[in-house]
Amino acid sequence: MRIAEILKTKTLANSTTPRLDLELLLEVILHKPRSFLYANPEYALTSEQKEKFEALYRRRLHGEPLAYILGKKEFWSLELAVNNKVLIPRSETELLVEIILSNLNREVANIADLGTGSGAIALALAYERPKWNIVATDISEDALQVARYNAMQLQISNVEFCRGDWCEILSNKKFDVIVSNPPYVEKNDLHLQQGDVRFEPKIALEACDGFDAIKTVIMQAKNRLTSDGLLVLEHGYDQSSAVQELLLQNGYQKITPHKDLAGIYRAVVAKNGENE
Ligand code: GLN
Repeated sequence: MRIAEILKTKTLANSTTPRLDLELLLEVILHKPRSFLYANPEYALTSEQKEKFEALYRRRLHGEPLAYILGKKEFWSLELAVNNKVLIPRSETELLVEIILSNLNREVANIADLGTGSGAIALALAYERPKWNIVATDISEDALQVARYNAMQLQISNVEFCRGDWCEILSNKKFDVIVSNPPYVEKNDLHLQQGDVRFEPKIALEACDGFDAIKTVIMQAKNRLTSDGLLVLEHGYDQSSAVQELLLQNGYQKITPHKDLAGIYRAVVAKNGENE
């Protein structure tokens, strides 16, 4: 089977980017850059390569996310390893990194990333600010393994990974920023039965009424932040006003919602506001 033939005849009805998906599958199987595919459309796959391609193609055909099949996903221009124990980092979540970088103008700072998953947020911050001390927690040891592997691959050494539930594992030291992309999809949301999320870990996605993890983080973070420390959260597309209300009820100040690239309020930053 030749490259041109595969690209012409194989379909992927499940995907919105079928051609790109096929090219990326071929790229990993042939260990060549995509430019090779264009330069060598007549290249015939060996029987071993063909077998491998068919196996990966079938997984994609059944809807498995490309990131899990390839075992990687780009976030903040860093290549992160992923598997089905971690949420696939989303481009929306890069907004949290942007907010923190633009709000915290300090060379040295203490940051906590709660529910780090693949380590995406913590590692992007650590990469941008090598002098910041970052603690990244997750309840899942499987997720922490992925995150630690990513730190090692990227040669990032200013993130400490700890297993624990939200803030519980954090030391008594106060943080300048606590950031989290917690699970926030309501358990019965039909959205969980469509697309990539079907293959992602429920623990990273689902929250009973959509708010239990967010509430826990808001409550626990309050006395872990410095007096002018910032809490930065991602939340669901329709949760912005409810999350702002929760922050207000818990005594946070200067609550500022942020829109993602699709124009949807997707993140919020709030100041601890103690002693003000
Ligand atoms: N953004 C994810 C989705 O599309 C949810 C991520 C999360 O729950 N933190 O469903």
